Amino acid sequence: MSENGVENVIIIGSGPAGLTAALYNARADLEPLVIEGYQAGGQLMLTTDVENFPGYPEGVMGPDMMIDFRKQAERFGTRFITKDVTSVDFSQKPFLIKVGEEEYRAKAVILSTGSSAIWLGLDSETRLRGKGVSSCATCDGAFFRDQRIIVVGGGDTAIEEAIFLTKFGTDVRVIHRRDELRASKIMQDRAFENNKISFVWDSVVEEVLGEDAVEGVRVKNVKTGEEQTLDCQGLFIAIGHKPNTKLFQGQIDLDKVGYIETSDNTRTNIPGVFACGDVQDSRYRQAISAAGSGCMAGIDAERWLAEQEG
Ligand code: NDP
Repeated sequence: MSENGVENVIIIGSGPAGLTAALYNARADLEPLVIEGYQAGGQLMLTTDVENFPGYPEGVMGPDMMIDFRKQAERFGTRFITKDVTSVDFSQKPFLIKVGEEEYRAKAVILSTGSSAIWLGLDSETRLRGKGVSSCATCDGAFFRDQRIIVVGGGDTAIEEAIFLTKFGTDVRVIHRRDELRASKIMQDRAFENNKISFVWDSVVEEVLGEDAVEGVRVKNVKTGEEQTLDCQGLFIAIGHKPNTKLFQGQIDLDKVGYIETSDNTRTNIPGVFACGDVQDSRYRQAISAAGSGCMAGIDAERWLAEQEG
């Protein structure tokens, strides 16, 4: 912390982006404060094997990697608050960040709040969330041992979850709204080779069935209009993510979808406020690209602070 209780840098969010920014700022003697949120660690806390982060030839479990990221940032003097930010005011200088009744002030802020799972938006889906409907196979897969499982989506997440869920379910059906997958070729090949996985093409879920627990789904074929009922006990929704930017609405520029707009790498429209990771990246959304942009935000914030003082 610098003089008068004003922090040099506050980092909001603690996925690969936020923790890499913290590592760089800590090593620059800025003693960054990370407000990591109650659900610290970001989306990698909800994954199993990460096979595409360079440096781990055998792969690494997502949560284990995030524990290491945090330890490394802490080793050089990063401090953490394990609570959620409730509001920000970037019109004040130093910037004001509230965590409930607690107020924090910072000369520079790095936003790395990531993104969250998107839901289908059906009433029946909301009602049965936690009662068979889930967006996290790693968290909830084991509840469906020897039961029938359905995954909705056609991207890498859906396929990765489907493969993972074959450890538990008697079978896994993937419902996709088109007749070809968006997932990468290697993931597709693995899914097609797995005899526990089958596909329901050109179809969307119209309703999740069941009173107190999922019993199945009513599905419509978007080409023929035909409807069918498929029974299942576990329903995993894997249709992408949306940026966690509600907190910043009206404070900084967001794009049409809600991602933070950055220019000149990690700068937002407010000088001294930087953004990195999935909250500003709708294109790559990888752990390694998030970590890379966290590094950039850390360096950008450090240089900006030096310019202000110089
Ligand atoms: P994506 O945006 O890549 O895929 C979302 C999928 O859900 C698409 O198939 C899309 O259909 C479908 N979808 C979207 N909205 C709806 C809806 N309302 N109803 C039905 N279906 C819908 O998201 P992912 O989370 O799969 O992946 C995000 C990023 O993370 C990607 O870059 C991916 O490569 C990466 N990733 C990499 C992994 C790995 O390398 N092991 C693992 C997981 C993710 P459509 O195809 O028709 O648009």
